[in-house]
Amino acid sequence: MHPAFDLATVILLHDTSLIAGAAAILHSRRRSTRPMGLERIAAAFIGLAIGAALAAFGEQAALPYWLWTYLSIFLGTVAYPLFWDGVRRLSGRRRSLYWIVVLVPAAWLLIGIVSGFPLVNEQRASVFHLTAVISLAASACEIWLDRLSEPLPARRPLAACLLISAAIYAVRLVCISLDIPSAFDFATAFFLQIFFNFWIALLIVTLVRERGEAGLQLAADTDTLTGVGNRRWFLGRIPATPRANSALAILDVDHFKQINDRFGHPAGDQVLVSVAKAVRDELREGDVFARYGGEEFVLFLPNVSELEAGLVSERLRKRVQAMSIVVDGSTTVRVTVSIGVAWSDEKDGTWDAWIKAADTACYEAKQGGRNLVRRHVVKDWPDRMLPAGSLQD
Ligand code: GH3
Ligand code: MG
Ligand code: MG
Repeated sequence: MHPAFDLATVILLHDTSLIAGAAAILHSRRRSTRPMGLERIAAAFIGLAIGAALAAFGEQAALPYWLWTYLSIFLGTVAYPLFWDGVRRLSGRRRSLYWIVVLVPAAWLLIGIVSGFPLVNEQRASVFHLTAVISLAASACEIWLDRLSEPLPARRPLAACLLISAAIYAVRLVCISLDIPSAFDFATAFFLQIFFNFWIALLIVTLVRERGEAGLQLAADTDTLTGVGNRRWFLGRIPATPRANSALAILDVDHFKQINDRFGHPAGDQVLVSVAKAVRDELREGDVFARYGGEEFVLFLPNVSELEAGLVSERLRKRVQAMSIVVDGSTTVRVTVSIGVAWSDEKDGTWDAWIKAADTACYEAKQGGRNLVRRHVVKDWPDRMLPAGSLQD
């Protein structure tokens, strides 16, 4: 410990870190669209601060011994399971751990009343540390396990901080239980906890912010009607410049205006949703598919031969043609798409040229009678077009 700090100062700093952490977490809760768990984490921080303050007052004989010992162990064993529950909910789990939050402190209190363990310093400290180790390690696991379903950058450091914090308590627990000289004294342990309290609170606030940003990013990149990516997302997902042996296709719903006119705009919307879903279901992992605007969709197929690009497009055309879309609960609507494919075995060129090539091919498909696939090889388009209907059965 730094010689300038006595134990009382360290405890004061420790409480400050908890209260400041709780305040920061409560503030981020007000701004969060998904505030689950934050109030519990803040309440746990405050409970720990009160418990530590009671212990500090108690040590100075400002409170009856039995009162502060029982109160501080009760608060400690409530706060850590509550923290775990809060972190679990923050991480994305819906099911609450009420039984742990209620049963753990209730059980320890009962055992305490029967055995009187809170009155013995080492035993009280052991129970507190044990509860802390389990709760912090479990919290680290919750944050870590959900990293695949919600990959936020703050998860990794937060899980690490929680685990290190649990490890510090674990070392102290072993030292207290076995009555061996600690690797770090009481005040050093507090110092480390101050450091991790701040860091954990900061990372929780960061995680909430990252979640908000990810939500905004998703909204900015997603077409609200169909749920597939929009043009902005598409242009961000395809390579910066065209790649050799890849294809770009434009899919345009045929006579879509008539569908709107005949069945109504909401039915038209439903058709767009169904077409988008049908196409998306047919694609490979690396394919990039988006709504380009109106009733036009765009598709990037990496690593395909000219023939494969045509066959994939043909499969999509047939899939849409085979659909029966039920609108208004009873009316069945059938649609077709015209598809223009741009393909190249050269990496030169610009996306503008590819889109123009795909657009021209699509126009040719419309001219050819619709419900057709047409291709252009970008380097020498437009002369390598397939004859009308050549890819159909
Ligand atoms: P073509 O076969 O030549 O492509 O004819 P089309 O009727 O499909 O093409 P046109 O460009 O004449 O009409 C497209 C229509 O798509 C016009 C527009 O009102 C409609 N549309 C664009 N966006 C939406 C949308 O989000 N929902 C609905 N229901 N209609 C839309
Ligand atoms: Mg169109
Ligand atoms: Mg159209």
